[in-house]
Amino acid sequence: MTSDMEHCAPAILSDWLKYHDLTPDLCTQILENAPAPGNPTLPRPHNKPVNLNPVDVWNTCGEAVIASMPESAAKVHHVLENATVEFSPDTARYPRAFTLHDNGRGLPYASCPWTGRGSDILMLAHEFGHALQIVACEGRDMPPVTREICAHLSEDWMLQHMQKQNRALIENLEKWAVYSAAKTLARDRKTLLAALDHPQATYNYQWNYPLARCLAWSLIKHQDPLDFWKLFRGKTNLSSLTSALYS
Ligand SMILES: [Zn+2]
Repeated sequence: MTSDMEHCAPAILSDWLKYHDLTPDLCTQILENAPAPGNPTLPRPHNKPVNLNPVDVWNTCGEAVIASMPESAAKVHHVLENATVEFSPDTARYPRAFTLHDNGRGLPYASCPWTGRGSDILMLAHEFGHALQIVACEGRDMPPVTREICAHLSEDWMLQHMQKQNRALIENLEKWAVYSAAKTLARDRKTLLAALDHPQATYNYQWNYPLARCLAWSLIKHQDPLDFWKLFRGKTNLSSLTSALYS
């Protein structure tokens, strides 16, 4: 996630919809049109230590993004060389991963509590996507659903990349990705759908995830090539994205 403290967070549902140029009907359409996430009733795959170095995994996240979006290479290298990543934060204070805009030198700061488990690979890919979107935006505002789409694309590209790079690990990691995405989506989808009928509902950052998850899947599976780099640079809005997907 990125911190809404650093942005002008919407206060209520109607503000959040307006900020994204969304309507309740379009939200429902995005959720209903997403490719099937997999079966959430599957048994829980194992999530054992993977014997990888987090610095190497962070660098692989960059390679994975470049493999899917070559025009991002210069900014990816800029993130890899200059952003700050804390792999051992004080987990009592910061139990969950997050990325801030400024490490004190005008570049992102990512807090990624690495425990060495397979799921941490996806955590790093997610936060790498945020770090890149922050750098690529060059100060342009990006609404939270779009920020989360970038993070989810980075996760999916990491999985695709590892299919070629690390066959031994990928089989279980893919199972884990499907399992955890299906669980999280079921939970967050319910939260968003319950809020859509209440324009005055207090904003909840969790609303951003199900739309971002579904749109990232739809974008990756879309037939026509889409300009992902434009999205990371904050130059594509959600309404043009959804009309490209659903027209
Ligand atoms: Zn995120």
